[in-house]
Amino acid sequence: MSTFYEVRRRDGAARLGLLSLKEEKQQTPLLFHGDSLRSGKEGFAVRSVEDPDFPELFETENWHAPRGAVLLPSVHPLFSKLNEAVPSLHVDSYVLSYASALLHSPREFVRRVIAARETIPPDTALWVPGIATAENVAVLIYLGVDLVDDTSAVIQGYQGLYHTEEGALELADLEELPCVCSICSSIRADELRERDDKVRGQLLAQHNALLLEQELKKVRTHIRAGTMREYLELRVRSSPFLTAVLRLLDLEEAAYFEPRTPVARNTVLMANTLESLWRVEVKRFARRVLDRYEPPQRRILLLLPCSARKPYSRSPSHRKFSDAIAPYRGHVHEVILTSPLGVVPRELEAVYPAAFYDIPVTGHWDAEERAWVASCLRNYLELHNSRYEHIVAHLSGPYREMCFSVAADLELEVISTCDVDEDMTASSALQRLREKLTELCGDTKRLSGFEQKASMLRAMADYQFGRSVGRALFSEAAGTRLKITGKFPAYQLSSDGVVLARVVPAYGLLTLTLNGARRIADLLAAYTVHIADFLPRGSILAPGVLDAGTAIRVNDEVLFSGEKAFGVGRAKMAGGEMVASRRGNAVEVREVTALNSV
Ligand SMILES: [Zn+2]
Repeated sequence: MSTFYEVRRRDGAARLGLLSLKEEKQQTPLLFHGDSLRSGKEGFAVRSVEDPDFPELFETENWHAPRGAVLLPSVHPLFSKLNEAVPSLHVDSYVLSYASALLHSPREFVRRVIAARETIPPDTALWVPGIATAENVAVLIYLGVDLVDDTSAVIQGYQGLYHTEEGALELADLEELPCVCSICSSIRADELRERDDKVRGQLLAQHNALLLEQELKKVRTHIRAGTMREYLELRVRSSPFLTAVLRLLDLEEAAYFEPRTPVARNTVLMANTLESLWRVEVKRFARRVLDRYEPPQRRILLLLPCSARKPYSRSPSHRKFSDAIAPYRGHVHEVILTSPLGVVPRELEAVYPAAFYDIPVTGHWDAEERAWVASCLRNYLELHNSRYEHIVAHLSGPYREMCFSVAADLELEVISTCDVDEDMTASSALQRLREKLTELCGDTKRLSGFEQKASMLRAMADYQFGRSVGRALFSEAAGTRLKITGKFPAYQLSSDGVVLARVVPAYGLLTLTLNGARRIADLLAAYTVHIADFLPRGSILAPGVLDAGTAIRVNDEVLFSGEKAFGVGRAKMAGGEMVASRRGNAVEVREVTALNSV
């Protein structure tokens, strides 16, 4: 099938794509204008069809008459057959009908859009008609909507409502028009009120539509930048309805967002709100620390506070901790307590999002934030406490309180090297830490540079691909030698001069070379893309994918293999989407080798 809609970029469930309606392709998320829709200028026909093939969309009792509609561009081969038969569901766009009813309840809003998105193929554009406004459009796009229109903005203009990004205002209440669009710059509020109904309605409708268009452009900018979630947290504050939508998304729809959320980004995750605690990235990190991370064999667990600078090792406070620990490093395992990530083992400080988050630091912690971080520490200790002879907490303030309350619950003894409100980097505190380690460790035991770097690379491989992958990557045949070069955190692992893997600090990821991938291919079934009988160059398109590991997320490092090729690359869509899509870039190829070429 030819290309009418293609997703080009993803940020969570939000997508940027190209839709071919007329001759030129248009960027989505796209705004349709009501007047050109009516005149047919957008280049497509809309037809309602009774009894569509997906009744699950309409399972709620509110929907007595199941209805859907398909949107076909005029260039589509089925366009001329619209009057003959109901086109198959494998269309390029789908229109969600009765969308206005979404505004009755936040739960309905969330459920129906997600149900539609999950029912239609991922490379189908979803149009939710008649409800977009400057206030809610960011939420619609965040949910996975690709097409909106200005009908609601225009109608509300004729009803005397003046739109702002924070909601609709009555023109009667406005002393000044809080906007600089072409309409608002040309007329004052009192002049606008005095115009006759029709002209006033027209001008308000134009302003509302312009504002919606501006907001949609802003949304596209945020998807491109990978900051859609941060923007959404900001946007939903304007109304309880939208804030409820976000909470429901986080609390009830995590299964929808998890596979759609990239495994790494090159931007900072801003945890500015309580909702940030519920982000997929935060939950995923915490789960992987429990499921995939294996602590090194050390006698003492040392709990440390986080730092503003990331990776933590680069911060002045962690340099001081490091100096204090250095002689005993072979005995000490460092774990950092932080919000919103919970616990970050030292070996994972360079991964995404551990090296990529920022929080407002005031010394005050919300109850929910405390409960979350404490639960992460509790889970970690329940799992690994038996490995350690002693737990040392170099913590003060809320960190210390959390640590002691968890230890009390688990009936564990914690040795504190800081007073309740002591500066954790004060020389007295550092001296106490040093003395305590001397006493507990007995002998000094430094770690070689190689061992320190190796523990980080092993842990990163496990974190990314699953437990025991790191060990396999480091398994060495007799007579060969592993070497780690590069400056923290940009380490490179090689074996007898052949590079196996590299840390890419810009994304907090480990990338594999072909040689590295061969070593661990057996363990990477979940991260393997099976391709058809061809030798890819540059990228692997979705139709060439036969099967793909369901663990694969956007930006994951993947292997691909087929009859003619074996290679490594970066996933551009989730594994499930690679299989379900008929177009789009599935994997960006980094290295490939031809098979059976003899
Ligand atoms: Zn305006």
